[in-house]
Amino acid sequence: RNWAESKLNTELLKAIERVGYDKPSPIQMAAIPLGLQQRDVIGVAETGSGKTAAFVLPMLTYITKLPPLSEENGPYAVVMAPTRELAQQIQDETVKFAHYLGIKVVSVVGGQSIEEQGFRIRQGCEVVIATPGRLLDCLERRYCVLNQCNYVVLDEADRMIDMGFEPQVAGVLDAMPSSNMKPENQDEELDEKKIYRTTYMFSATMPPAVERLARKYLRNPVVVTI
Ligand code: AMP
Repeated sequence: RNWAESKLNTELLKAIERVGYDKPSPIQMAAIPLGLQQRDVIGVAETGSGKTAAFVLPMLTYITKLPPLSEENGPYAVVMAPTRELAQQIQDETVKFAHYLGIKVVSVVGGQSIEEQGFRIRQGCEVVIATPGRLLDCLERRYCVLNQCNYVVLDEADRMIDMGFEPQVAGVLDAMPSSNMKPENQDEELDEKKIYRTTYMFSATMPPAVERLARKYLRNPVVVTI
């Protein structure tokens, strides 16, 4: 197991070296190549497995291939998590790498000024990390537009559902361009030059409401269990 096998580009490999992660964890080895191929992933993994970097690294790779930010574009990727604390942990893990790549990350959670968060989004960022209710609020107030967002992560999906966030999660996903969804028919070849929506869903359990979300918003997902 080493990073060279993960198919990440040199820019990312350099950032990982600077962060000091010697080798990829099992969930990272399994999930990163799938994200790089724009495949959807359902990850069943606990905190401590390195699941955050497993979705952050392919997400940042995707962003490095897009045009630099201007006033009209971004965010290019969104991560949703059930609690402020988890959103903060994801933010910390993302910034570690994003810092070396010149990628801006804004976190949008309840309990802080929404005007200020809206202002920071509008100043430009490639990644938004959010709790679902607050992000939907930002969308409704037009602080944030997801028409260029094609990479989405639902972390601890079962907990988001337990906390009653299913409508908000769906509301955010519905604000992303549906034209970039992969075809339902899994036999259809993906066009390597086209950008498809890539969706990562992490969940410790798969109750019916989580299955329902997965059926509606993921296409032919690969289930990775560690
Ligand atoms: P997570 O499961 O994503 O919450 O990560 C648990 C902890 O492991 C975090 O503190 C990460 O910074 C750290 N970590 C993640 N991946 C690696 C790795 N490949 N090598 C060393 N530490 C890691």
